[in-house]
Amino acid sequence: MVQIRLTNTRTRRKEDFQPIDPTNLRLYLCGPTVYDRAHLGNARPVLVFDVLVRLLHHVYGREAVTYVRNFTDVDDKINAEAQRRKAAGSPLSLEALVAERSEETIAWYHADMDALGAMRPHIRGKVTPLAEPRATAYIAQMIQMNLDLIARGHAYEAEGHVLFDVRSFPDYGKLSGRSVDDMMAGARVEVAPFKRDPMDFVLWKPSDDELPGWDSPWGRGRPGWHIECSAMSAALLGPSFDIHGGGIDLQFPHHENEIAQSCCAHPTEDFARYWLHNEMLQVEGKKMSKSLGNFFTVRDLLDRGVPGEVIRFVMLSTHYRKPMDWTEAKAAEAEAVLRRWRGLVAGIEPATSPAPALVEALADDLNTAGAFAVLHELAARGDAARLLVSARMLGLLLPEMGRWAEADNAVAARIEALLEARAAARKARDFARADAIRDGIAAAGVEVKDTATGSEWALAAGFDAKALDALARELGLT
Ligand code: AMP
Ligand code: ZN
Repeated sequence: MVQIRLTNTRTRRKEDFQPIDPTNLRLYLCGPTVYDRAHLGNARPVLVFDVLVRLLHHVYGREAVTYVRNFTDVDDKINAEAQRRKAAGSPLSLEALVAERSEETIAWYHADMDALGAMRPHIRGKVTPLAEPRATAYIAQMIQMNLDLIARGHAYEAEGHVLFDVRSFPDYGKLSGRSVDDMMAGARVEVAPFKRDPMDFVLWKPSDDELPGWDSPWGRGRPGWHIECSAMSAALLGPSFDIHGGGIDLQFPHHENEIAQSCCAHPTEDFARYWLHNEMLQVEGKKMSKSLGNFFTVRDLLDRGVPGEVIRFVMLSTHYRKPMDWTEAKAAEAEAVLRRWRGLVAGIEPATSPAPALVEALADDLNTAGAFAVLHELAARGDAARLLVSARMLGLLLPEMGRWAEADNAVAARIEALLEARAAARKARDFARADAIRDGIAAAGVEVKDTATGSEWALAAGFDAKALDALARELGLT
């Protein structure tokens, strides 16, 4: 069996991955807060995990893998959007507007991640909505966890809040390698008079009457963000599981706090054995984020005609533990490579197994850059059957991801047919027909340059595929 090695943030070392139970692997990835479209940076952890999960399927079998990713649907930013809609005159209640915003954002998220070829979360290989828990469906479990933490002396109630007592957990700071005092110096901690220690963080807080809230032993309120992931992962994966992932920006405080909560609520368990963190997608050397305003969404790119498969290729070509930049040049290069590969594998049956060197590269801490080198080599050797099955381990060259290339091919075939018809008309000295074809092609937004060896063409900005189809029909070419 292939030995997978992963860099475990918890130990800061590359370690052999030893599953708790090789017939039942369990993974948790922190999912999005559903208040707006996913930006391109948000897609990075999803794509990294997608490759990891494909590798685990390959090594242990799909039915052995449970992959859970949550939706955070309790949040101030969702509430703010609901309040904006209310102020704009919506007749719905604030609660209904919050639900409406979450619902539409989840639908966008699915559409966008599907377009990138990211597998949906699944339980023992089966895609089910259960594998995508929403925080609002697990409030009872969060309340119970808070009660357990209070009972064990790790949390306390103060003015309708429940707070985690950071000094009660000596390992606090271990994941990010900082002491509580270091963290205090560096972090923006909310100082509140009811906190015993400024580092103590919120497990539960009061909610005002209009906004979503739930009855609890501490009054009407709502959970803090961190307890959501602790409660949902325990409910679906158990108190100990294999791999927990997310962007490096979540290491502190979010993951540090998850560990504190989960380990204190289940003191005999490990919580997550391996912690995987991806580095940030950057723009001009700065983290892409909504708060910095330097972001663009996955949908922006798709709408501009960048195929999901091209986005995926670019995002995976940099190792997940390195910062990366999105550039137009990388996208153009990826598109050209994918077009070439798709041409190579057209009509070819995939080989039975991927190239061993590719699996080795991925097993070595998801060395996707190394995996791409193997794919390039297979393409150069013309080993199309092996290229096809190997690329699919990276979620590339999948049939459902190739519509962009097919659509392009269909357009190219149409233009070629029209140019041939024009050449035939010229040869037959039917200049009226030849000119009509030339004008029709130009009107559809295709630029044609006649050269000594034939005609070259390019699509202009206003290219109109429908006009091209109509022209072909008119000429009896379809
Ligand atoms: P959020 O909705 O901000 O909690 O983020 C959802 C996921 O996207 C988390 O795993 C974050 O770590 C990740 N993330 C956010 N910004 C970036 C970025 N610029 N590059 C890579 N991952 C990011
Ligand atoms: Zn989380």
